[in-house]
Amino acid sequence: MDLAYLTIERARELLDSRQVSSVELTRACLDRVEALDGRINAFLTTTPELALAQAEEADRRLARGEGGPLTGVPMALKDVLSTAGVRTTCGSKMLENFTPLYDATVVARLRDAGAITLGKTNMDEFAMGSSNENSAFEPTRNPWDTERVPGGSSGGSAAAVAAGEAVFSLGTDTGGSIRQPAAYCGVVGLKPTYGRVSRFGLVAFASSLDQAGPLTRTVGDAALALQAIAGHDPRDSTSAPIEVPDFIARLDGGASGLRIGVPVEYFPPDTQPGVREAVSRAINDLVAAGATVDWEVSLPSTPYALATYYIIAPSEASANLARYDGVKYGYSYQDGATMWENMETTRGLGFGDEVKRRIMLGTYALSAGYYDAYYLKAQKVRTLIRAEFDEAFRKYDVLVAPTAPSVAFPLGSKVNDPYAMYLNDVCTLPVNIAGLPGISVPCGLVDGLPVGLQIIGRPFDEAGVLRAARAYELAAGSEALRPPLD
Ligand code: GLN
Repeated sequence: MDLAYLTIERARELLDSRQVSSVELTRACLDRVEALDGRINAFLTTTPELALAQAEEADRRLARGEGGPLTGVPMALKDVLSTAGVRTTCGSKMLENFTPLYDATVVARLRDAGAITLGKTNMDEFAMGSSNENSAFEPTRNPWDTERVPGGSSGGSAAAVAAGEAVFSLGTDTGGSIRQPAAYCGVVGLKPTYGRVSRFGLVAFASSLDQAGPLTRTVGDAALALQAIAGHDPRDSTSAPIEVPDFIARLDGGASGLRIGVPVEYFPPDTQPGVREAVSRAINDLVAAGATVDWEVSLPSTPYALATYYIIAPSEASANLARYDGVKYGYSYQDGATMWENMETTRGLGFGDEVKRRIMLGTYALSAGYYDAYYLKAQKVRTLIRAEFDEAFRKYDVLVAPTAPSVAFPLGSKVNDPYAMYLNDVCTLPVNIAGLPGISVPCGLVDGLPVGLQIIGRPFDEAGVLRAARAYELAAGSEALRPPLD
């Protein structure tokens, strides 16, 4: 039996009917990582002993008739998520040898659910980037074309699922880092509403934007994984103390009666024609399945989202990254003449160029004299962006757009042009700024490379987003994609 490319749902059937054990499934994933990851580099750390021990435990639970939807299913975790006893680098030299003492809440919840940890995935340093090329280690490659980027910053998590190395993975999304790599690698990626999922143990980049979420092969799998990680956490005061609905029960609502709005600003002039066509075709599929569509919705502040994000995110990052001083944990330079020299050199050597750029941008925007002109202004625009979404959601159930303006680009093509790199996130950033849920679902190939359809919903309406995404999946008859790797 070919165990690569199983969905969570299919793995569940095989595990429950004892056609396959969790140990077999876990071995199959580890073997595939062994065989392929030299080419893809999705993993920074693999944990085969831990994985097999967890798989044995899962098999015992299943034999007793216990366990839930994820018990025995192998997953990969973005290396920004703290894992007790397992190195957590955040893609940075600063944390190259850092081993946390506790699990992030999302990790603990998945472990309790019986999911198997295969290892930690590659990422842009501190989740800053759109291509994985800001990883302090070798970048991940796109399984569809290893000369292209997998997207970022959760590129390793997306590539691991796309390459058949893990059944599902977790990523984090501050400005698009789950959805954009999902689009580039041909998998499903879900960013929950800000506050739906605990950030405890997620190494902070921009605290008002960061959210963890699943990367999967199908929308149904995304619902299953979200169900396991969602919900209030007393250890994260920004996690919302509201009830988590049954996402699975509401998945098959269909497209009938669904009101779709298409924001014109999400199709900037330089949108790749093939992407525009694939997304338009996908929207027409939803209409054929019973949805209604307004093609002319306007969210006029959208063009300011990029500037807003690149004030707010670096400002928060500059504060969050102050903790890496060589004293508390992580890399520490100690050969300087003074404490200040040690601290400066620690930060100079420990951080990569993009992280330093963000710290400088953020420190500048927050400094006396510039705070009102930049940071305060950005917060006002943030409010406007959110208000425009609120207004749109009075008339539409979901907004639909491309996830990214192009398909995956060649490695190296944007590394020397930060602004071109930032422009990749024009369609995803506004969703974080407003704290909304969004999903990327594969909607076809252009020149052999996957395109992502983005579906954006009302705050805390992941169920509505998943329902629309599932309706598209059914309407398009799309099966989980498989790149020409083998
Ligand atoms: N690419 C964006 C950035 O560099 C978003 C990253 C993210 O979502 N973590 O900040």
